[in-house]
Amino acid sequence: MMEISGATKVCGLIGDPVDHSLSPLMQNYYAQSTGVDQVYVTFQVKKGNVATAINGAYNLNVKGMNVTIPHKQEVMETLVHIDEDASAIGAVNTLVRDAHGYRGYNTDAKGLFRGMQEEGIIIEGKTWVVLGAGGAAKAVAYLLAKKNAKKIYILNRTLEKAQELSDYVNGYKNVEIAVPLLLAQWNCLEEDIYSVVQTTSVGMHPKVKACPIEEQEFYSKVETAVDLIYTPKETQFLKRAKQEGACVMNGLSMLLYQGLEAYQLWNPEVLVTDDMIQEAKALLMKQLGEA
Ligand code: NAP
Repeated sequence: MMEISGATKVCGLIGDPVDHSLSPLMQNYYAQSTGVDQVYVTFQVKKGNVATAINGAYNLNVKGMNVTIPHKQEVMETLVHIDEDASAIGAVNTLVRDAHGYRGYNTDAKGLFRGMQEEGIIIEGKTWVVLGAGGAAKAVAYLLAKKNAKKIYILNRTLEKAQELSDYVNGYKNVEIAVPLLLAQWNCLEEDIYSVVQTTSVGMHPKVKACPIEEQEFYSKVETAVDLIYTPKETQFLKRAKQEGACVMNGLSMLLYQGLEAYQLWNPEVLVTDDMIQEAKALLMKQLGEA
């Protein structure tokens, strides 16, 4: 049981919906296990009410916040500082209080990178394929470009969005490394081997039989397959890639490490041990029914 006193600090998540978030489980575990007097709760905030909510949170002495859909962009207008990753991605998912207001960070790319490093996945010098061109795809494409992927194909159901994301990557790198395609044009990939990050919501629970690219031939050239989805643990996309001998990773470690990065932004002086991180992962898996 957590002991809450007059001195307990509050952190939270703003978004809509927030009821099914796993962040309270993870963040309250870290606070308890590292002995930090902090509690983490969710705040459902309707679209359009972000500025009022942030102003209220600051005046209520809320120590830090995570931000989720649909507020990751709108919240940027309320902040006193925005870090490099968040400003490049154009979305903030973590707020840290300072003497003048909240500072904004984006821990998604860092979280994914840490998960990939743990699995020994190399970005630099490789050809990457990103399936999807939504909010998560932007953080992924930014990470791949920042870490010097050789080439990045962006495949999406809607070509305009793939074009937009490719333009963003090419603008960020100042070199034409990104190429937009429709998902259905996967057979236009001119490579013998590539790695893929699946960022669409296709295949997520409960529609677990769905897959963004059905043809098995696509998977025969996949070296590494990363899916941002973590329910189910193994999507159809990962199953197909695994069948062809690819190294696979699901989205749980991105969730885990983006949360850990946020916790450490709020508590930079606190040591979170590897054992604690593994325990947090086990708690998440148990909650997801995978333990
Ligand atoms: P989003 O901005 O709404 O983007 C959704 C993407 O999925 C778009 O590219 C969309 O294509 C595509 N899509 C949706 N339905 C499709 C369909 N039936 N066929 C083909 N493509 C389809 O969502 P997001 O925020 O990027 O999130 C995407 C996924 O990433 C979600 O499953 C989310 O849970 C996951 N995610 C995981 C983590 C993590 O920590 N592991 C973090 C963030 C997100 P169009 O452009 O054509 O609509």
